Amino acid sequence: MTVPFIDLKRFEDGFLEDWEEKVSKISKAASFIGGQEVELLENRLASVTESKFAVTCANGTDAIQLALRALDIGPSDIVLVPNMTFWATFEAVVNVGATPVTVDSETKDGGVDINAFFEAVEKFHPKAAVIAHLYGWGTGNLEKIRDYCSSENVFLIEDGAQCFGTKYQGDPIYKNALISTTSFYPAKVLGAAGDGGAVFTSDELLAKKVRQLANHGRTSHYGYGLVGWNSRLDSLQAAYLNLALEFLPQRITSRIEAIRFYKSHLSDIGIHHMSAPKPYHENGYCHVGLIADLSLKKKLETSLREQNIGFGNIYPGPMSEQECSPRYMKSHVGGNMARQICDTVINLPVFPYISEQELREVVETVKTVCEGT
Ligand SMILES: *Cc1c(COP(=O)(O)O)cnc(C)c1O
Repeated sequence: MTVPFIDLKRFEDGFLEDWEEKVSKISKAASFIGGQEVELLENRLASVTESKFAVTCANGTDAIQLALRALDIGPSDIVLVPNMTFWATFEAVVNVGATPVTVDSETKDGGVDINAFFEAVEKFHPKAAVIAHLYGWGTGNLEKIRDYCSSENVFLIEDGAQCFGTKYQGDPIYKNALISTTSFYPAKVLGAAGDGGAVFTSDELLAKKVRQLANHGRTSHYGYGLVGWNSRLDSLQAAYLNLALEFLPQRITSRIEAIRFYKSHLSDIGIHHMSAPKPYHENGYCHVGLIADLSLKKKLETSLREQNIGFGNIYPGPMSEQECSPRYMKSHVGGNMARQICDTVINLPVFPYISEQELREVVETVKTVCEGT
């Protein structure tokens, strides 16, 4: 049986029909930029994230760049970046002209290594730090990092591209962030019918600046108060996201059930799960990561491939080790646990409405490999 790593075609009953109807309506009105759908989406996003303001934009990478620019981060500024994240986190810092210092990550939860983080702040006095909430959860040390950054006057930007819907200490994770971002890339927790992103903040001035930057720095139609760029989310994407939001709780529940299934069936096989730290107990619905030593990992990969089961390696390499990184980085702080995560993690299929039969197939394959070693 083939089990895909991700299948985005499992739409709820009626979803595609509703979408087609929206496309037809918006097309007939030729209202492609801004308008009701975008406004409705932003209001709903603000309410779901319990942030005062939600500003939509073109993609998750732009969202980070908008947050950085709104905080006046630019040339000659140093920005801390976790070594274990998607490339966009690093890229955004370089694209605004700032200089990244990478900080090591923790093998336990994939979050930033807090001691390395403190050391990096003391050593480099960065103007800002970006942290990434990977795999559907955030770092166990989130409150400590937020408090520390605020006391040291380091602007903290939270890249929440993988944690939409995650709760931290009972609140949406974005709620108490200075500024946070997400991506609506189709494979993310809340995916669009193309690219999209958003910035969340409860600071009115920051929200205003983000909105202005994402629309050419406009003060009026042909008046410009800033040099920004065009990073608007279009009306069709907003309409799709408004439909998807209706089903988000169901989609997240389905992901959580998949993770539970893996955990309960793969608990005693001698390999390790990467899982959400305590404050997020029920979260971690983006990816399930098995930590296996190199030889076991190779065997797992071979068997999964033979059985036509999709798997991932999120991520195969740390930021500091990319071909072009040395050209842009000032330094790296901490050890190289990020490399260890990259080398040992293997991600199993998790997506909304993955069937029990599919989950069983994955579990059987993994078990057979582990029990045979
Ligand atoms: C997906 C992702 C991004 C980038 O989002 P895009 O919408 O693809 O630009 C940034 N950071 C992380 C952690 C991501 O997973």
